[in-house]
Amino acid sequence: MNCRYCGEKLIHKFIDLGAAPPSNAYLDEKDLHKSELYFPLKVFVCHRCWLVQTEDYARADELFRSDYAYFSSTSTTWLDHAARYSTMICDRLQLGPKSFVIEIASNDGYLLKNFVTRSIPCLGIEPTDDTAAAAEKIGIPVLREFFGSAFAQQLNNEGRQANLIIGNNVYAHVPDINDFTVGMKTVLKPGGTITLEFPHLMRLIEHTQFDTIYHEHYSYLSLYTVNRIFTEAGLRIFDVEELPTHGGSLRIYGCHIEDKRSQGSNVAHILDEEKRRGLQSLTIYQTFQQQAANVKDELLLFLIEQKRKGRKVAAYGAAAKGNTLLNYAGIKTDLIPYVCDAASSKQGKYLPGSRIEITNEEKIRKDKPDYILIFPWNIRKEIVEQLHYIREWDGKFLVAIPQIEVISL
Ligand SMILES: [Zn+2]
Repeated sequence: MNCRYCGEKLIHKFIDLGAAPPSNAYLDEKDLHKSELYFPLKVFVCHRCWLVQTEDYARADELFRSDYAYFSSTSTTWLDHAARYSTMICDRLQLGPKSFVIEIASNDGYLLKNFVTRSIPCLGIEPTDDTAAAAEKIGIPVLREFFGSAFAQQLNNEGRQANLIIGNNVYAHVPDINDFTVGMKTVLKPGGTITLEFPHLMRLIEHTQFDTIYHEHYSYLSLYTVNRIFTEAGLRIFDVEELPTHGGSLRIYGCHIEDKRSQGSNVAHILDEEKRRGLQSLTIYQTFQQQAANVKDELLLFLIEQKRKGRKVAAYGAAAKGNTLLNYAGIKTDLIPYVCDAASSKQGKYLPGSRIEITNEEKIRKDKPDYILIFPWNIRKEIVEQLHYIREWDGKFLVAIPQIEVISL
């Protein structure tokens, strides 16, 4: 396989997580009699541009484009994050009724609704029908499309270029990152701004967040590599912020390459830090597999110990993160009998691979587990608050990443 950005032959493995079903391939009860489709989950690093990327498989794009809908609005952490961003960016770019904002992967409108209330014209681009319909219900225009250069050209031909293009947690999920970037260039007005948020590869490595790796997550991005991809597409990164979301993300600010805006000092600062930590040499990538194996071993030891002591462990959050961890560690229902999730659309289904049942919260209240393992550790605070009542029976919360930790309350 060749690098998705620069075309170099990929020869260096970053991590091999074995084989797993697509992380969103939840099973119904009737599916439990059938086999599941497993794909290798292997990640490479390109020694020329340092893009970390999943291995390609035949038909992968269709299979991994699950129509399973995740509604961003179910998380209050995300809603707050979106509201704060909207206030900041409207102020910084002086957006008003004559501006035009495009959000790529607009989900259920959790972010664009903040622009609608300010009477700023906007457009969401979202291929998933359920979430697009939810956004339309609250007054957000949505086009049900996957974003790429051809579609961007179509918008451009209709005179729909944007003052602001927003892409939150979508850039790492596109198979053709070059085509996507060219598309943003095409649909960006002269003087316009792009903001993208994506998990920072530097933090993924630092905090052993291997559970954020799954098939649908094609790229693991450093500022260095994104800067190269932007430059080649005729774009420029003029500012960057570090965010706590998803265990450490970057929010980059892009513009046309000829744009006169000066570059914020943060860009050089983060580029320097990435280089200092060794993100442009092989060693840091070659030791990651061992780092992940240690975390997995510790978790298994903990779960086996609890089982032997007759203690009950349940899990919370039927998310992609949990599936990667469970399937890599080979954890089945004898160690974690059920996982609870707030989304009613997932309840009654089973996790892909591990086949652990997804239940509602009632199960926790009745079962009174000794420990609840939180899979989406990035919103652990929110979950701890929501399930505060487990203290009544001396229940405890824990996370497995970056190491097993019982959360002190
Ligand atoms: Zn490359």
